[in-house]
This record gives sequence, C-alpha cells and structure tokens, in this order.
Amino acid sequence: MSQPDWAQLAPNAANHAPLSPVSFLKRAARIYPDKTAIIDGDTRLSYRDFEQRAVALAAGLAALGIVAGDTVAVLSRNRHEMLEARYGVPMAGAVMNPINVRLDSRTIAFILGHGQARLLIVDPAFADTAQAACAQMPEPPIIVWMRASDTSLPDTGHAYEDLLGKGRADFAPVTPDDEWAPLTLSYTSGTTGDPKGVVYHHRGGYLAAMSNAMAFEMSASSVYLWTLPMFHCDGWGYVWSVTAVGATHVCLPGIDAARIYDEIEAHGVTHLCGAPIVLNTLIGAFDAAGRTLSRTATFALGGAAPPAAVIRKAGAIGFDITHLYGLTETYGPAALCVRQPEWADLDTDTLAARMARQGVANYAIEDVAVLDIDGAPVARDGAAIGEICIRGHTVMAGYLDNPAKTDEAFADGWFHTGDLAVCHADGYVEIKDRAKDIIISGGENISSLEIESVLYDHPEIGEAAVVAAPDDTWGEVPYAFVTPRPGAALEAETLIDYCRQHLARFKAPKRVVFCELPKTATGKIRKNVLRESL
Ligand code: ADP
Repeated sequence: MSQPDWAQLAPNAANHAPLSPVSFLKRAARIYPDKTAIIDGDTRLSYRDFEQRAVALAAGLAALGIVAGDTVAVLSRNRHEMLEARYGVPMAGAVMNPINVRLDSRTIAFILGHGQARLLIVDPAFADTAQAACAQMPEPPIIVWMRASDTSLPDTGHAYEDLLGKGRADFAPVTPDDEWAPLTLSYTSGTTGDPKGVVYHHRGGYLAAMSNAMAFEMSASSVYLWTLPMFHCDGWGYVWSVTAVGATHVCLPGIDAARIYDEIEAHGVTHLCGAPIVLNTLIGAFDAAGRTLSRTATFALGGAAPPAAVIRKAGAIGFDITHLYGLTETYGPAALCVRQPEWADLDTDTLAARMARQGVANYAIEDVAVLDIDGAPVARDGAAIGEICIRGHTVMAGYLDNPAKTDEAFADGWFHTGDLAVCHADGYVEIKDRAKDIIISGGENISSLEIESVLYDHPEIGEAAVVAAPDDTWGEVPYAFVTPRPGAALEAETLIDYCRQHLARFKAPKRVVFCELPKTATGKIRKNVLRESL
C-alpha cells in the first residue's frame, strides 16, 4: 500500500512561529485595550498602557546598549514595573534574571556576576543591598531605579521612568527566532555550594502559562492577587497566565493580612497563590478578626507540604484550595492534586488528606513518576518510596554554565527532583521526605550546607550540622548542632547573631544545640539521627 506524502507539508510563516509568552501581552492589548490589566495601590494600568510601557522599557534598554542575549536582572517586590519588565526585557531580546529580595548582598553579587548581568533594575526598598552587592563586583551592572514614593533616589544610575522616554519611537519589539531561546534566569539555592542558575526558554514559558491557567480555571473575568513573589519561578508562571487570559493583576508589595483581605474584597479577587505559611497567616488573621470572604477565592497552595489542617480550615473562611507541587527547575507547578468529582461526597477530614497529596502531572508535563533506585516505577501501594522524576515541556533548559549539575539533574532522561514520595493506587503521588539537604522555611529554600559553611568559618567551632526542624508557623526552620572546639566558650545567642551577620536573616538557625555529632562508621554525620532527636 502506498502512503500519502505527508512530508511535503512544511512549516512556514503562516502556520508556525516560535512559541513565546511575550505574545500574550500583544494579544491582550489588542482585544482588551481599555480593560484594567494591573492594579498597584493607586496606580491603574490598562492593557494598552501595559503594552506601551513594556515596549517603552524595551526601547529604553536598547538605548542603554542592551542587546539580544544580554542578562537584565531585577530586584523588586511585586510592583507594576516588575510585570512591565517581564515583557519589556524579552522585547529587548534580553534574558530577565529576577532576584529573590530576601537574599544578602554577597549572594546577590554572586548571582549578578555569574549571570553576567549588564543592567539591574532595582526597587529602591532594596537600594542598600543592591549598592552593597555592586560594590563587591569588579564589573557591576548599570543600575536603573524604580520610582520611590518616600525617599530620594541615589544619584548614580538611571531613573526607570526616564528610561521609558529614552528609546526610539519606532522601536520594534524583538521576537525570538527560536522558541528554545532563553527567557528567564532564576537562581535556586540547591543543596551544594553556590546557587544554580536555572534557564527557562520561551516555549516553556508559553506552555507554563497555558497549563497553569487551565489548572487554575482562569478566564478574562479572573482577578489575580500577587501574594506569591513574582521572582519565584516567574510567579509559578502566573506573570504570563494572567495576561494570557486577559485577567487583572493586583500587585501586593508584601504579606499583610489586613491589606490582603481589603484587596480581595475591593477588587473581587478570584485567584491567589502562596506557600502554606501564607495561607496559614491569612487563616489566623481572618479568624482573629472574625472575617470571612464575601465570595470564594481559589487559593493555589504549593512550595512546601501543606498540612491537612490548613487545607481543612481554608474552606471555612472562603478559600477553595488547588494544591500544586513543583520546583524552580520545572517552571513551578509540575503536579497538581486534581479533584475527582466523587470527592465532593467526602467528609472534610478525608478530603483534606486527599488534597494534601501532590497529585498528578500538570498539563504541560508528560510524566510525574516515582522511580526506585534502578529507575523502575515503584508499586502503586502508597508505601514503596522512590524519587519523584519528571519529564515534560516545562522543565528547564539546564543550569547556566554548570554542565556537571545539568547532567546530574537529567540523568537517564528524567529530571531528578530529590523529593522522596509514594504513589497511591489512584496514581497520585505523595511526598514523604527529601533526599536533598534543603530546609523549606515559609516556602523559601535554605541550603543547610550554606549555613554549615558559615558555622565552620567560626574559629571556635569544631563541627557543625544543620537540619530542618518542624515548625508550626514556618513549616520548617533550621536547627544547628554544634561541637565547640576544646576550651571554647560559645553561646547559642551569639552564634545565631554571628549567622545573621553572614547570611540572609531568614537563613540563621532558630536554635543551636551543643553536642557530640552522631557519625556513621565511615565518619559521615548521621543527620537522620539529629532529625529524629527533635
Ligand atoms: P518553589 O519556589 O516553588 O518553592 P523551589 O525550587 O524553591 O521551588 O523548591 C522546590 C522544592 O519545594 C521541591 O523540590 C519540594 O521539596 C518542595 N515543594 C514544592 N511544592 C511542594 C508541595 N506542594 N508539597 C511538598 N513539597 C513541595
């Protein structure tokens, strides 16, 4: 039998273009020019304004010499300029590097240097840290300051609003000619040494936007409140999803329960995201003030294991939970706990226990598997433990300038998460432990090795080990176990202060225990014994 000649049909400009999430802004501005795209305090930007400001930023960046392939870093809270930069930076052909605002200047200097940032856009709330970071660099980036309402701007660098007027009027936004082109560079504190630079591509950004909009059932009438930092995994993809569906972004500079309640009620917020600590804070504060939401808002919960009690209590104040699981390396949500229709009949406790599981693959993910040490899927019995391994379209391109770590992460054609889980009979995965040495405190990763290396630098410390201790508020907090050198007169409080001086504040151990460290026969510190002693 002959077959049709399928191969005669080739992609051309009419039927194929590289996928890029930047195109969502163009579409939204065309369809909804006058609709409110961004609410940021008293500032309102329509989709027309949003697009014009993003293009003006791209033109301004080009006028400062930024060219395709350059890195443009941003250190900012959730502000409208941060959203503009999300689109404006790639429209200049550059790669955006959003930096966690809670990091210390030494780590920020490392990130800026490693990513070779040419330019850094800064929220003046972090002026001191940004300047301290740049002072440590042989070739610091050009600084662009966002508007400050309360302070005057440092006299070095450029003002963001001036930059918007600097570009050529006929500037044409750059579109990628390859969907694999880098879109974002996000640093994640892994288990060893310096942070790793996770590179996202345009294709992944586009598919993450679609996938997360579907997972979260968003539409043009959605109103999204930015309780999640936009610097975390492109705000779990929602910097793109909200624009893709033409919904409204509501910016929020920090977690303030009273303001969150007011913003939800004032703007009719339908969707918000955050780590369990954020939801728990809201539950506590709303409860104490005797407040419930006047209509249900969907809360996507992720970044750390959610206690079933938090899920259970959320419903009582008006939050409907979507549970997401993922990593920086997977553009945020790689799995979601899809609610089955028959779960509607379950009692609250059983439903909360089901919903606390990390679930099944998100739309743009091919597979979320639990594999044993030989790479075979574990039995679906809710008991056999293996590592969660992921394949899909929203898995990073790799770590920048780190082929060894990239190869290790992608061994055997899977992305290895370092999360240990079981698989239930219904195919839903549930995390039980972590093989990697990180502490997840309030949804932020802390490398225990980073804290240990600061402790080992202390002249009076012989040995040190840091482990995650369970904490009702933060989920986990770092505890340090320390063996002082003979004759040393160390005190826990001064050691915690010492750590605060050498690390971002949130990474300092919450407790120090002086003891002999338990070891294996080969001399390795038995962290499991330390964990069990808590
Ligand atoms: P994120 O910014 O989303 O927290 P990170 O890369 O910083 O991403 O952290 C990823 C790690 O966080 C995962 O490997 C896992 O250990 C943990 N994590 C994320 N989501 C969940 C979840 N829903 N349940 C349990 N742990 C989670």
